[in-house]
Amino acid sequence: MTNEELWKAALGQIELSLSKANFITWFKNTSILSREDGRVVIGVPNGFAKEWLENKYNLYIIKALKSLEPEIQDIKCSIAPNSDRKVGPENFVKSMDGARPSMPSTPVSVGFSRKRIAEKPILTAPSGEIFRSNLNNRYTFENFIVAENNELARAACFAVSQNLGHLYNPLFIYGGVGLGKTHLLQALGNEIMSKHPEKRVKYITSERFTSELVESIKNQTVDQFKAAYEHIDLLIIDDVQFLSGREKTQNEFFHIFNALYQLNKQIVISSDRTPKAIPTLEERLRSRFEGGMIADISRPSLETRVAILETKAQEKGMPIDPASIHFIAEHVKDNVRELEGALARVFAYSEFQKVPITLPLVQKALSDMLVQTKKSVKLDDIVKTVSDFYGIPVEEMVKKGRKKEIAHPRQVAMYLLRTELDTPFSTIGDFFGGRDHTTVLHAVEKVTKNRESTLRIREEIASIKEKLQNSAV
Ligand code: ADP
Ligand code: MG
Repeated sequence: MTNEELWKAALGQIELSLSKANFITWFKNTSILSREDGRVVIGVPNGFAKEWLENKYNLYIIKALKSLEPEIQDIKCSIAPNSDRKVGPENFVKSMDGARPSMPSTPVSVGFSRKRIAEKPILTAPSGEIFRSNLNNRYTFENFIVAENNELARAACFAVSQNLGHLYNPLFIYGGVGLGKTHLLQALGNEIMSKHPEKRVKYITSERFTSELVESIKNQTVDQFKAAYEHIDLLIIDDVQFLSGREKTQNEFFHIFNALYQLNKQIVISSDRTPKAIPTLEERLRSRFEGGMIADISRPSLETRVAILETKAQEKGMPIDPASIHFIAEHVKDNVRELEGALARVFAYSEFQKVPITLPLVQKALSDMLVQTKKSVKLDDIVKTVSDFYGIPVEEMVKKGRKKEIAHPRQVAMYLLRTELDTPFSTIGDFFGGRDHTTVLHAVEKVTKNRESTLRIREEIASIKEKLQNSAV
């Protein structure tokens, strides 16, 4: 086997053991540089990838290589910025479910070329409004608690803060609500502002971006709006999923994105889901987002929740015993924001009553909050939430037809109706245009099976459930 063949086969195996985001992040643009006396030297694009592969993934890599060439004993990584793109693309196309391979290093210019930007006179002095960084200095890397659910995203943001515009661009962070996306994005912005005060940093939510754009269209200042954006060194767009369905905004954003990208300016984006799962996101934007690095944040485990509560209590200087911490961690599971809320509630209760924090006090303080989290969801809520999530109207889901983009949401809705509400198969069938109960049974089984085997389906279902909890009354 040539080095190229060996690496390609090994990547095929490694891919099966890691999440998609992890695989793409760490193995994109890698190759085998040499192979001698049982040691394989892997070329990686930067020091960050080297450290991560050698410390975190060495066992996966050795295992995969050994199964193909038993004499291989050891690996080493070496930085070889341009040694890449030999093996990568096919593997990465496959792993992104048919998405395009990574963005070429010289992207196709649409609307803007490097030259044109350089020559373009600055239309206006950068306006104060656009250059307001919008950062909140309470969010830092120091007070971000790192655990297995967020270490990839944290490492990626930190690495980008050390090497703006050159390492991973764009950087795309996704995960459910309250899991720390905004915190990380702002920590990155704050890090740049403190280390490089001369850099222009802008943090903006996609909703705010949209409303500013609309405003500038009204005032006929779109050109200034765009020109000002082109002077930003680090553009952070939070909650980009809200661009879904906004064609005009997506179009302007695409131009700003390209302009910045070509100037090696850093773009960092967050979303509650992967680029692929954002409905009505223009294909060209999707492939831009997928062309950089994608890192996920998942829900914290019980141990992580305990660690978060301990750290936050310590920061506030509130003594709280382990039994109370455990009680909160066991009952408040969904995200960090809720953990913070529960802790604040317990502190307020104890201060108000002037009694120390004990388990009975915690139980009392949180009693209505815990009842509330068991809020009831109804059939309509589930169908509506699924419909919103996939961007498919309920009428479409109910109609006959087997188109995959509709069949999948329909099956997920059936699955959730069954698992969340225990709705009888025949009732579900009736709701979905008089379908037979065996059709519903098959749909539920299919989603159950896919959920086990496919990370993306697990994530979709987790996001939908989260939305259901948040919207239920
Ligand atoms: P998201 O943007 O993903 O909805 P946020 O970044 O707003 O979530 O986080 C919600 C709250 O939880 C914030 O107050 C944030 O500081 C806190 N938080 C989230 N993750 C962490 C973490 N790993 N360490 C410390 N605080 C965290
Ligand atoms: Mg946020």
